[in-house]
Formats: sequence, structure tokens, C-alpha cells
Amino acid sequence: MMVFTGAVKNMFGAIAGVEKAAHHMNMPDYDAFADNIIDICEAVKPDLSIMDGIMGMDGNGPSAGNPKKVDVIIASIDPYLVDKAAHDLINLSVEDSYILTQAKSRGVELDYTVVGCEIKELFCDDFDIPFRKSMGIKRRGLLNSRILTYFRTKPIVDKDICIGCEICKNNCPAEVIVMKNEIPDFDYKGCIRCYCCQELCPEHAISIKTPLIIKALTSKRS
Ligand code: SF4
Ligand code: SF4
Repeated sequence: MMVFTGAVKNMFGAIAGVEKAAHHMNMPDYDAFADNIIDICEAVKPDLSIMDGIMGMDGNGPSAGNPKKVDVIIASIDPYLVDKAAHDLINLSVEDSYILTQAKSRGVELDYTVVGCEIKELFCDDFDIPFRKSMGIKRRGLLNSRILTYFRTKPIVDKDICIGCEICKNNCPAEVIVMKNEIPDFDYKGCIRCYCCQELCPEHAISIKTPLIIKALTSKRS
């Protein structure tokens, strides 16, 4: 949903359990949700942020992605700079990242100095970034067209992998999942595309399907 999970988004963990769902429901717009994450980070004010990127994760994280050996540890008293350095390492621009875009618009300083080495020495050029903010902007424009309303990314379930545990159903903020024959069934009209279901599925049975037309329209930026 946010493209990237790092030091700033980590502060969402300060919100207790089911309260997280209310945040998703109240702020289904991705930019508003990113703003909300920044508010939480500003309230918590972490003294030190350490990103253990010896083994990172790419693809559809934060729990269902692929282990990725990056071999870095990034630390700073400023969580935004930890994230900016990580963005630079994986070639993710501020403009393609919801949280840093919002942070920049608030005037957060994103210039940093690396101590101990050159950042280009650490560059990871094959990091799988599954979605970029620019894709969302284009998609939102497309959604203004009634014809293309149905061409949205959406969670889909692999029935052969699903074990019917109902974790996705019980954690869907929009309550749009019902179980049919012990398999989740999604009401996509009410789905807010938060991807909590995909994130929380212990079997990795849920994936995010991007329609071919969106892939084609956004392929130049990805
Ligand atoms: S969380 Fe995963 S395994 Fe459990 S019901 Fe949902 S899709 Fe199936
Ligand atoms: S179905 Fe999944 S993506 Fe849609 S609102 Fe529920 S948890 Fe979020």
C-alpha cells in the first residue's frame, strides 16, 4: 500500500492491535494514510532508528515478500533519513514513495551524509519494487473514468494454498471478506486496497493482481 516499509512506517506499530484497522478505514486515500503515518512518527519521536538490512525483503512485503540479502545496517537519529538512504540504495525515488512524498511536502529535510562508506558502494540494483506511487497517480486518474473503474489492483486468493484460517476475514478493516466453502470471497466494491489481508495471510495465499492495462500504462516507470 505504501510502497515501502521502513523506519517511519514502523511507527504504525505504536497503534494498538485492532485500532490499526480504524486508521485504514478512516484514511483509505493513500496520501492521507501516509500523512497519518507521519503524524504517528512525529508523536512517537523515536530517539534512534536502526534498519537491519543484512537480510531485507523485496516484492509484496512487509510480510509476504521475498528475503533479499542487501548487507547493510542503516542508523540515524532521524527516521526520515534512514528511509531516504534506503530508498537511494534500492533506486526508489521520493516521488514514487507515499510517505517520503508527504514528508517532503511538509518540509522534512531529506539530505543526509553517509558515515563510513559511499552509498554507491552499497547500491542494490535488482530490488523488486512491486508498485510505485506514480502508478497510483495514473491509476487514480484512470478511476475517474467510469469505464475503467473495474481495472484496479485487487487481492486474489490461491484456493490451493488457503487453509481457511479466516485471519484475512477477521482483519479486513472494510469487512468485505466473507468465507465461502472455507475460502475467502472479496467484495471488491467495498475494498479499500489496504492489502492487510495479503500482508497477514500466514500461508501467503493472497497476492495482488494488477490488471494488464495498468501494467502496460505504467511499465515505463517501473
Ligand atoms: S488468511 Fe490466508 S490462509 Fe487464512 S483464510 Fe485468508 S487466504 Fe486463507
Ligand atoms: S479485502 Fe484486503 S485489501 Fe480489501 S479492504 Fe479488506 S484487507 Fe484491505
